[in-house]
Amino acid sequence: MTLTEKILARAAGKARVQAGDNVWVKADVLMTHDVCGPGTIGVFKREFGASAKVWDRNRVVIIPDHYIFTSDSKSNRNVDILREFVKEQGITYFYDVIDDPSGKWVFDAQKGMLKRQYGSRYAGVCHTALPQKGHTRPGEILFGTDSHTCMAGAFNQFATGIGNTDAGFVMGTGKLLLKVPETMHFRLEGALQPGVMAKDIVLHCIGEIGFDGATYRSLQFDGPGATALSIDDRMTIANMAIEAGGKNAMFEFDAQTKAFVDYRCKLNGTRADYEPVERDHDEKFVYETTVDLSKLEPTVACHPDPGQRKLARELGGIKVDRAYIGSCTGGKTSDFVEFARVLKGKRVVIDTFGVPATPEIVHDLQSVLWGDKSIWNILQDAGVQMTENAGCAACLGGPVDTFGRMNAPLKCISATNRNFPGRMGHKESQVFLASPATVAASALTGKITDPREHLPA
Ligand code: SF4
Repeated sequence: MTLTEKILARAAGKARVQAGDNVWVKADVLMTHDVCGPGTIGVFKREFGASAKVWDRNRVVIIPDHYIFTSDSKSNRNVDILREFVKEQGITYFYDVIDDPSGKWVFDAQKGMLKRQYGSRYAGVCHTALPQKGHTRPGEILFGTDSHTCMAGAFNQFATGIGNTDAGFVMGTGKLLLKVPETMHFRLEGALQPGVMAKDIVLHCIGEIGFDGATYRSLQFDGPGATALSIDDRMTIANMAIEAGGKNAMFEFDAQTKAFVDYRCKLNGTRADYEPVERDHDEKFVYETTVDLSKLEPTVACHPDPGQRKLARELGGIKVDRAYIGSCTGGKTSDFVEFARVLKGKRVVIDTFGVPATPEIVHDLQSVLWGDKSIWNILQDAGVQMTENAGCAACLGGPVDTFGRMNAPLKCISATNRNFPGRMGHKESQVFLASPATVAASALTGKITDPREHLPA
């Protein structure tokens, strides 16, 4: 069996499963957020009754993160609906925007977009927050009401996005009927060259198979090139499995995974027992390829979908109006570090927005000094508009007052993960997906630019 099949077999209580089998599996964690949470709660109450209780109050994790820093009253209200449900159900893990459990969330536009407006428990973008808060465990099953839930595949976990109806069912029963996906195998070999990042790996792979090339399939990444990647890099790659239509992504468990997960579970006091899965000799793959990482170059997915692969050096003529770094896939500390390495001591020439994925990342960037300046200050000095209000922000457009949203038919180079028409706002705007290094280099020139021309000596 493949790694995915092994996890699904165990969760189904079976010795073996194979691609195409339909199996009932037990969920280990169900995650929802402010956009899909209220709908999921509605389905749960409709189907299980107004006084029904969730199947396990310690396994439902609620993370508001999407439409938070906006004056849109309906979006603010969604956070309040989550808070009321958490109180009613006694749910343990709720990363509220405010500290007052009886309060109401109201964004204060007078304070502006850049200064922090959240309380002490707010966790930021759900997929980045889940591992930071100790909710991703190898060998487990994570369902989330968000397509990029597949990011937790970085931790040797079966993690996939589900709709509100399925999530309402999981909320009530802790189970879900799943078809076992076929597995595509990406063996990674070699090492990345300077200026080339994990984002380039996944954009390369999606370019190979197209934006629907992995529809309802598992994407397994392994080999020495995968082992050498950091946890952040694995998260970047796993996150974008869905951009090829993938059901989930999967990495092997190793010492790095163990160190990360054990530390995070201990830090947050979350459940620390887990059982990873290891590779078998009889894995059956529907597709196999080997990627030599040393041959990859800075890569861009052009408008209008993540499969429109080009090399950054081939796109030098394309002018962009703005640059954006942020999101679950591109707003991690390591992403901002590479971004800052390119920008340090220079000035951007186009509007450039920086949105850390979580408050912890804001703290990292403000506390790590390069010389006498924090990374945060280095980016501000370069002209980047950095917000402390960690969250999804303009990654998916959002209400019109969302920080960084494209409210006109502009072109943006972005470290985010999705670029279908209208994704970041205006329906005629265009998004070019790239690594943080490529976004930084492009911000310096106003054109899509290969970052290798701008690396520090
Ligand atoms: S940052 Fe973007 S991709 Fe990630 S969860 Fe938020 S909206 Fe979705």
